[in-house]
Amino acid sequence: MKNALHAFLILSLCSAAAAGPLEQLRRGRELPSAPAPGPAAEEAAAYLQDDSRYWITTPAEDKYDRTALLEAGLDIVEIGKKTVSGFISKDEMDRLAGKGFIIRSRQTIKEYAKKHLKDFPASDAAYHNYAETAELLQTLAADNPEETSLFSIGKTVEGRDIWCLRINPSEKGETPSARPSAFFMGNHHAREHLTNEVALGLAVHLLSRKNEPEIRGYLDTLDIFIAPMTNPDGAEYDVRTGKYRWHRKNTRINPDKTVGVDLNRNYDSLWCKAGASHYPNSDTYCGPYAFSEPETQAIKKFVETRPNIKTLMSYHSYSSLLLYPWAGKDTPVENMRDRKVFETMAKGMTAFTGYRPQQSSDLYVATGDTTDWAYANHKIFSFTTELEGTTFYPGAAIISKAVSKNVKAALYLLSVTAEPYKLAE
Ligand SMILES: [Zn+2]
Repeated sequence: MKNALHAFLILSLCSAAAAGPLEQLRRGRELPSAPAPGPAAEEAAAYLQDDSRYWITTPAEDKYDRTALLEAGLDIVEIGKKTVSGFISKDEMDRLAGKGFIIRSRQTIKEYAKKHLKDFPASDAAYHNYAETAELLQTLAADNPEETSLFSIGKTVEGRDIWCLRINPSEKGETPSARPSAFFMGNHHAREHLTNEVALGLAVHLLSRKNEPEIRGYLDTLDIFIAPMTNPDGAEYDVRTGKYRWHRKNTRINPDKTVGVDLNRNYDSLWCKAGASHYPNSDTYCGPYAFSEPETQAIKKFVETRPNIKTLMSYHSYSSLLLYPWAGKDTPVENMRDRKVFETMAKGMTAFTGYRPQQSSDLYVATGDTTDWAYANHKIFSFTTELEGTTFYPGAAIISKAVSKNVKAALYLLSVTAEPYKLAE
């Protein structure tokens, strides 16, 4: 692609003040308004033949049960009143049963796919794959040279660049800045494609409205970074066959030939102590050691070299939640002033999204995640958003709704980035 298309996108960005960012993205990519029909579910699920995972439901009374299940290798996806459901490998399912856990229902990932695949990648063309993500970021940077710069914060296992768009009219590229900074990230988890769209939508929104007074105010005072796809290998692996694979991790080939380390268990915050798995075939595999993966190393270096970062948002999906530290311990943030700031920011953002604000470990204890590490080591007010939806593949119609709400929440976060401690007064 596609110079004509670029021109079209640029035109849309300049002229479409009334349209939402999503509308601009869709128009820019000249998408059909109705999704194309997908192949039969049976045919679509056939490619999962060699995937040994099961989708199971098992009783879990509270977060302690949920944490124990995570540690036993269950990739918890849905939390019911007294149950949890998620993916688990055949070996770990057998181990789970051996440890006395009751498995209430089980189905192979193939059976699960047959029931749950409604939209297929052909009809999900509104989502940006890696090349399209890079292209959109390049277009935004080229179209807004005064305000932006685009650079790679590092390379992945497979050698892809992790692109980061900087919005700061006074400092470009990797030059340090004294301005307070906000850092937005998407797609740590491969199958959470909606998170990439939300981060891209935020970039489009900020730049297409850069002359509106509120946004101009942020552009003139803050140092804003947006890295929409922090696990591009995984995101590509998930769609490479043209059909979804429910892949969560990166694409590291482990010694036992299984694929992937869970990047959001690979940070050095109580690494692999609770709610993470040492089994390489687990979806919550923490890796051989903290920061073993080039993707998390890149983020580590990026954050460490930018002491001006005050706020951080890592987008995940799905559950309609806004989570703040601690994730790795079930006690609250010890510093009362910081806790007040976290709670106030969380309330401020969820007023726009309607998501539930809570301490991350109220869900389950999970160590080694981005937000705990960023807060514990760098005192950054760090959040995880679990976007809305009831599946990892919710179709294209959800994008504009999710972008619209989360852009408002992000603008709120920008409004409090310069002086977070004002919120504790
Ligand atoms: Zn996630």
